[in-house]
Amino acid sequence: MDLFDFKDGREGYYGDYGGTFLPEILHSTIEELKRAFRDAREDPSFWQEFVELMQSYSGRPTPITHLANLSKQLGGAQIYVKREDLNHTGSHKINNVMGQGLLVKRMGKSRVIAETGAGQHGYATATMAARFGFHSKIYMGAVDVARQRPNVFWMENMGSEVIAVRDGQQTLKDAINECLRDWVTNMDDTHYVLGTACGPHPFPEMVSWFQSIIGREARDQLMALSGRLPDRVFACVGGGSNAIGLFQGFMDDSDVELVGCEAGGFGPGKGNHAARLAYKDASVGVAQGMKTYFLQNDDGNMLETHSVAAGLDYIGVNPVLVHLWEQERVRFEAVTDEQVTEALKLTMRSEGLIPALESAHGFAQALTEAASMSTKEVVLINMSGRGDKDIFTIADAIGDDHWKQFIRAKANEYGTE
Ligand SMILES: *Cc1c(COP(=O)(O)O)cnc(C)c1O
Repeated sequence: MDLFDFKDGREGYYGDYGGTFLPEILHSTIEELKRAFRDAREDPSFWQEFVELMQSYSGRPTPITHLANLSKQLGGAQIYVKREDLNHTGSHKINNVMGQGLLVKRMGKSRVIAETGAGQHGYATATMAARFGFHSKIYMGAVDVARQRPNVFWMENMGSEVIAVRDGQQTLKDAINECLRDWVTNMDDTHYVLGTACGPHPFPEMVSWFQSIIGREARDQLMALSGRLPDRVFACVGGGSNAIGLFQGFMDDSDVELVGCEAGGFGPGKGNHAARLAYKDASVGVAQGMKTYFLQNDDGNMLETHSVAAGLDYIGVNPVLVHLWEQERVRFEAVTDEQVTEALKLTMRSEGLIPALESAHGFAQALTEAASMSTKEVVLINMSGRGDKDIFTIADAIGDDHWKQFIRAKANEYGTE
């Protein structure tokens, strides 16, 4: 099944979702990007160059680890984990930004811009820009700049200019607006590095393509390790890039169940979570360049969202995944903050692994389901990133009083709270 074969449909649409909704002025630059991406996709040496870059720079292929202790402890399915946390910069985000970096080089541009909320995508983009020698500007809400001092420090030291956006709520949405303004003004030499499989076509397709490296590796590795395909595959879904990346490896294997895990936050109820599909609070709209499901009110104003994991705290969702959900190819589940904390504790104790809070959503759902499966069955979880970045939040969530106080004091010192 080629998700991106548009022969029978409209290019850039997945069922009714996707599209390119942008101001007319950006038409030519988007066309240029589409052409460059098409050429690169049809050129086998481009993918080869990408793979070699990721091998030498980011440690790919990332391994798959069998969680033998947890599998035994839960008494159900054999649990395997794809280790995207072992990438340079600590998550799958580097796959996408390095791929886009190669494309920028191919287009002959010299400057990149990006927006970032929690700072992870800005950090990855700054890394890429340093490596390729591009000028880079990272837009970040002023509130987020204050909350994410360590990320800002590294971005600046890698040569990026970090702009604290003081409009509106001074968070991600305002940073996106400011970044778009920059793009409109400087599109001749500038590429906008989008961080997830969202936004106007060709971004969802392009980001999915770069992230498909996860699924391509995982299918072969799991076959070699366990001698069979997984029964169920789990990945957390923020914008949806790590999930679509892993799922593409198993798209044609109709017996493999694909499970997307969204941020259930405090639980159901508008404003309490970021579970766009699992909690059925979202509706179809057009925003941020695409048509998809958004958490919005009846007037189309975006709702507040909540998740313990900053990377999942997002109002929209990848249009490709929405289409696959409607076709019942991907099942969506919501995982609450509380369930995430329990899964994290269990995984740290039993396996010595610290999943990122985002990834821990996939773990929580997978561990729950694995417990009631047979010992012959196999589940695969995408560990999209490492949890070191989440130390303050995890200490808080675990509720360890001694550490909580110590870490609060440190957080104040660093200005990360
Ligand atoms: C950003 C991030 C996510 C969410 O993004 P997707 O595009 O949904 O993959 C998940 N995990 C980690 C570790 C992240 O940094």
